[in-house]
Amino acid sequence: MEALFSDVFVKSLKRHSSIKKAIQKKADMIIENPIALGEPLKGNFRGYYSTPVKKNFLIIYLYCKVCRAKGDDKIVLCHDCPKCKDETVKFVDMGPHDEAYKKKSYWS
Ligand SMILES: [Zn+2]
Repeated sequence: MEALFSDVFVKSLKRHSSIKKAIQKKADMIIENPIALGEPLKGNFRGYYSTPVKKNFLIIYLYCKVCRAKGDDKIVLCHDCPKCKDETVKFVDMGPHDEAYKKKSYWS
């Protein structure tokens, strides 16, 4: 599995350094099994997955195999999707639930 991390994700990781270990552990688990761990998002975030790190704190990510199978790459505008292998997980963002969902889109 290939894992990519957005600038936003990396910045957030620094900002939330107190739970960095928990985030990294969860990221490793997502890389192992992105579908089993993720909850598919709807609406503006169709094609994205979220997984809680702890109560009310989410990691948002994409799994290219799935975004392509569904044709969601056109909807979610998965950054560089055609250039990535199927087995690619893209860590997009993280944060408290409300904050993570407030945004209208990612990668733009
Ligand atoms: Zn993709």
